[in-house]
Amino acid sequence: MGMPTKVTLIPGDGIGPEISQSVREILTAAGAPIEWEVCLAGQAGLAATGTPLPEETLASIKTNKLALKGPLTTQIGEGYRSINVTLRQTFDLYCNLRPVQNLPGLAGRFTNVDLVIFRENTEDLYAGIEHKAGKYAAESIKLITREASLRIAAAAFQYAQKHGHKKVTAVHKANIMKLSDGLFLQCAREVAAQYPAVAYNEVIVDNLCMQLVQRPEQFDILLAPNLYGDIISDLCAGLVGGLGVVPGANIGTDCAIFEAVHGTAPDIAGKNMANPVAMLLSALMLLEYIGEMATAQTIRNAVTAVLTEKTALTPDLGGNATTTAMTEAIITKLKDR
Ligand code: NAD
Repeated sequence: MGMPTKVTLIPGDGIGPEISQSVREILTAAGAPIEWEVCLAGQAGLAATGTPLPEETLASIKTNKLALKGPLTTQIGEGYRSINVTLRQTFDLYCNLRPVQNLPGLAGRFTNVDLVIFRENTEDLYAGIEHKAGKYAAESIKLITREASLRIAAAAFQYAQKHGHKKVTAVHKANIMKLSDGLFLQCAREVAAQYPAVAYNEVIVDNLCMQLVQRPEQFDILLAPNLYGDIISDLCAGLVGGLGVVPGANIGTDCAIFEAVHGTAPDIAGKNMANPVAMLLSALMLLEYIGEMATAQTIRNAVTAVLTEKTALTPDLGGNATTTAMTEAIITKLKDR
């Protein structure tokens, strides 16, 4: 066996430490060749070092170029800038990739959801260009550039081609934001023209929301600017069993940070109730990214077995198992093989 791959692990805030522990135990039990470098960020970073994004954490990601991240608290309407957004911008992680699928064994409202969301991850209203305009108004700038739009579109089409997906749907509101969303669409069309084997269409975001909750099976790859991509990610998670089961990856040219779609879940933090599956599936995306396909598949099979048996499911999935019990059930399945 070769040297283990060094990966920065940010346990995160809220349920982060609980689910990170679970993921570490499962990957260790499966023999995944990973050496974790645990680093702090968010509230935990602030408490320990006085800053929500300590230099050591940045340095670790810079060196390892790979991280698994738990959720981080972002205060609403005040406080420090989102560390998630800062990390995505610092490492130019322009592609936020979120596969949303019905998991075998997990009954959802729908049975035929198989979507992949490509969310532009560095600009749009998340560029953080905001200011007060006098006493009674505030302005946020929606920044859309040709460069960022072209590269996220290229990522979506390359993925479609590589993984045999049939269609890319660009999400927009260019009927209202003719210049910014118009530019996003223009770039998507240019890239689409280079991939004649992949079908391409466009849908206005509000219409998409309705279509998704009525007939999600009509969509394949969704290509969206940052804000719409963020919102439809949670909507799509709701189609397949909730935020506890949807993983994600933030990918740049030479660095990638893997994290679940969900946040810190303050309502259940510290109660041993959080579903570890979303973060675990994010870790499996990381394993696949570094070529550890077999280990990822073995763990995926164990998760499927636990979801199918339904005896160790956390409350969000309709069960009454603790995070620890679900983790142990997955590890038991790994040993059974
Ligand atoms: P949330 O995703 O934390 O929670 C929404 C709902 O989903 C809650 O009821 C929660 O209990 C449930 N949920 C989420 N993950 C779950 C899991 N693994 N198992 C079981 N139930 C789960 O969203 P929120 O409440 O809007 O945000 C809370 C905090 O998280 C905020 O500070 C927000 O800024 C932050 N946040 C961080 C990230 C990130 O780090 N990438 C993403 C989203 C939100």
